[in-house]
Amino acid sequence: MIVVMKVGSTQQDIDQVLERLGEVGLSGEITAGVERSIIGVVGKTFPELGTMLETLPGVDHTVKISRPYKLASREFRQNSTIIDVNGVKIGDGSIVVMAGPCSIENEDQMVQTARAVKAAGAHILRGGAFKPRTSPYSFRGLGEEGLRHLATARAETGMPVITEVMTIRDVELVARYTDILQIGARNMQNFYLLEEAADTGKPIMLKRGLAGEIEEWLLCAEYILARGNRQVILCERGIRTFETATRNTMDLSAIPMVKELSHLPIVSDPSHGTGKWKLVEPMAMASIAAGADGLIIEVHPSPEHALSDGAQSLTFENFAKLMANVTRVGNAVGHPLAPALPVPASQGAVAG
Ligand code: PEP
Ligand code: MN
Repeated sequence: MIVVMKVGSTQQDIDQVLERLGEVGLSGEITAGVERSIIGVVGKTFPELGTMLETLPGVDHTVKISRPYKLASREFRQNSTIIDVNGVKIGDGSIVVMAGPCSIENEDQMVQTARAVKAAGAHILRGGAFKPRTSPYSFRGLGEEGLRHLATARAETGMPVITEVMTIRDVELVARYTDILQIGARNMQNFYLLEEAADTGKPIMLKRGLAGEIEEWLLCAEYILARGNRQVILCERGIRTFETATRNTMDLSAIPMVKELSHLPIVSDPSHGTGKWKLVEPMAMASIAAGADGLIIEVHPSPEHALSDGAQSLTFENFAKLMANVTRVGNAVGHPLAPALPVPASQGAVAG
């Protein structure tokens, strides 16, 4: 941190800053300028230090130079984090695709969708049993019954699964059924939920908040990492802007920005990022070109009948088309699609 003194501040003002720094176990290096002096703080700073020093009479302002998050930063860990979800590696330079319906509606819908997305090359199955809905009168998910359908589809196809947990109350239940816990955009800064989810030891996909700055988002990841759970996947899912033509504004620049600031993998959600199925494929391709480690895509057997987010859901056919184009972009930028999942023994060729 750098402390910039006011024009005309006195030696006494500087001494006061040095004294305050000494009280909290830090020291200062003074650089005297023609008009004003600056003091470089030496030692381990803490979040409140800036405000503390700015209350001193001679101080104009303070400037942070190291990042407020540590464990999430690229400075802390140069090598990209790779998360292994039952053999599917997220963050190793290949593209991992998560796909499935917005909401789990019934067993048939889940099994059918799982088979279709797996056949198209997807690696992880998504589906929500606890849904954050703007209106309390909308379909809010099947709860544990939905988790059971997810488990059936997982068993049938061998696909690892991801599903959202919305409240501390359900963490233990959801963790019993899922391979990755999803923290939704609306809960990005629900710090106690982040800690409770972290304590399950499961990989956590942390979606960016509707109005979350990248720094705030990485600080939320820091909550999980600081709890000893190093398996955090970030997910860019679009942010609120003045634009109304799309549901959210897909912040593609967040992808290379996060890759520079953090060692954590980042996946892109062009379904929620745009809200329009026709825009999902182009934004998926752009996300891969921008360096995303993977995608999460909403797919439904019949989007026009979906109980949530039908407008942004792809048919099986459109999803297969997306996979082909995403693979082409991935190959062009040196990020091939992650290896296909093995066929479960029950469905494989019989030896002999
Ligand atoms: C979802 O994945 O279905 C969802 C609700 O996403 P978000 O939290 O990004 O709105
Ligand atoms: Mn959705």
